[in-house]
Amino acid sequence: MPDKHALQKPNNSLGRRLVVATLGFCLLFTCVTVGLRSWFAWQNNLANIRSELALIDQVFQGTLSKAIWEMDTESLESQMESVAGATPVGRVSLRIFRAGREAEVIVRSTADSRVFEQSPSLRRELTFSPYAGAVEHVGTLEIDANQTVLRERLYHEITNILVTQVVQSLLLAGLIMWMFNHSVTVHVQHIARHLNRLSPDTLKAKLSLQRSPKRRDELSLLEAGVNDVQDKLADHLDRQRQYEHDLAAHRDHLAELVDARTAELSEANQRLEELSRSDPLTGLANRREFDDVKEKEFRRAVRSEQPLAVLMCDIDFFKAYNDLYGHAQGDRCLRDVADILRQSFARAGEVVARLGGEEFAVLLPGLNLEEAARVAERATSALAERAIPHSASLVSDHVTLSIGLATLDTKAMDHFDQLLSQADQALYRAKHSGRNRVAC
Ligand code: GH3
Ligand code: MG
Ligand code: MG
Repeated sequence: MPDKHALQKPNNSLGRRLVVATLGFCLLFTCVTVGLRSWFAWQNNLANIRSELALIDQVFQGTLSKAIWEMDTESLESQMESVAGATPVGRVSLRIFRAGREAEVIVRSTADSRVFEQSPSLRRELTFSPYAGAVEHVGTLEIDANQTVLRERLYHEITNILVTQVVQSLLLAGLIMWMFNHSVTVHVQHIARHLNRLSPDTLKAKLSLQRSPKRRDELSLLEAGVNDVQDKLADHLDRQRQYEHDLAAHRDHLAELVDARTAELSEANQRLEELSRSDPLTGLANRREFDDVKEKEFRRAVRSEQPLAVLMCDIDFFKAYNDLYGHAQGDRCLRDVADILRQSFARAGEVVARLGGEEFAVLLPGLNLEEAARVAERATSALAERAIPHSASLVSDHVTLSIGLATLDTKAMDHFDQLLSQADQALYRAKHSGRNRVAC
């Protein structure tokens, strides 16, 4: 995907627009200036011509008057030729007055002379003083300026003005273009390139314009502003990275805590599960655990056609024991009997459970009737050896057990409770045949 911020060449540069605007202004300014200066030049020319005509008049008026008075036609003609030959003169006319005669007019003009109304002209009444105190009016001299000369001078001046003005404008536009390019465009392009290269990793690279550091202008402000924004952004990013780092550490710590708590919880659950499956007084399996295990062992024995024996054990005259020794001692007695049973049936797979009160059940997988009877006898012997005193017993002077034994008959039984019920019946028989014995 192309970078939408990629540096693009401007299709209309600031410098070019400035030059076009400057040239436009210069053109307008040139027109106005040329117009004004031309008008002044025109006025100046007219004044010059007038003064030149006045000079000619001054030079010739005396001699012309004298020639008229003296009727010196040759001199008159030559003077008229001289006046007409002067550069600024376009046309000269001399009206001569003579007493009692028609006025005579002599006119001389240059070949391309044209006389316009605006052309300066000079009219002089010629007088002659033949003797002191007498003044005779001898004629009238009229000199008109040469329009062609006037126009040529004006044309020359306007050309001068136009050329200098245009050269001035072009030089001014060029200078502005160069100045703008040198002191603005180059740096603006530098800033644009710098900004285009910016990324979170290059924020620390400062913008530095290739100028004298002493310069303090709008570009310096822009440079300082860009660097300031970069600093703030870099700070912000650093802080954000730090936050993210802290957050990750926090998250890891939290995960560790959760793991630890979960482990503790599962341990507690396991403990709870064990507690819910064991008898709190003796630590043996309780009825719930026994019910679970008995079904499994029953199915396994049926499936593998292995023998399975069950013992139902009941302490003899335990009510009397409680009555004689107290309930707390009764509990201690229960724990002792439980220990003896646990030690007597410690093979793998054998389960001893307290079903309630002073009644215990033992599961003996893999044992047939004789083997089960043998281990049951061993348990009663172990109890006898322990010799827990029981003065209230009618069958012994120490605590004794009656045990009912039954074994699985896969042909007759399809449920464990049938086996348990047989063991119960055997226990009943043990009780009724004198207690402190194993009955099958
Ligand atoms: P038998 O020889 O016929 O079994 O007579 P027995 O007295 O042992 O039987 P019985 O069922 O009449 O009495 C059981 C007694 O067990 C009654 C009760 O006080 C006592 N017992 C039951 N559970 C507990 C117990 O958790 N702790 C104590 N200390 N005694 C208990
Ligand atoms: Mg009982
Ligand atoms: Mg009993």
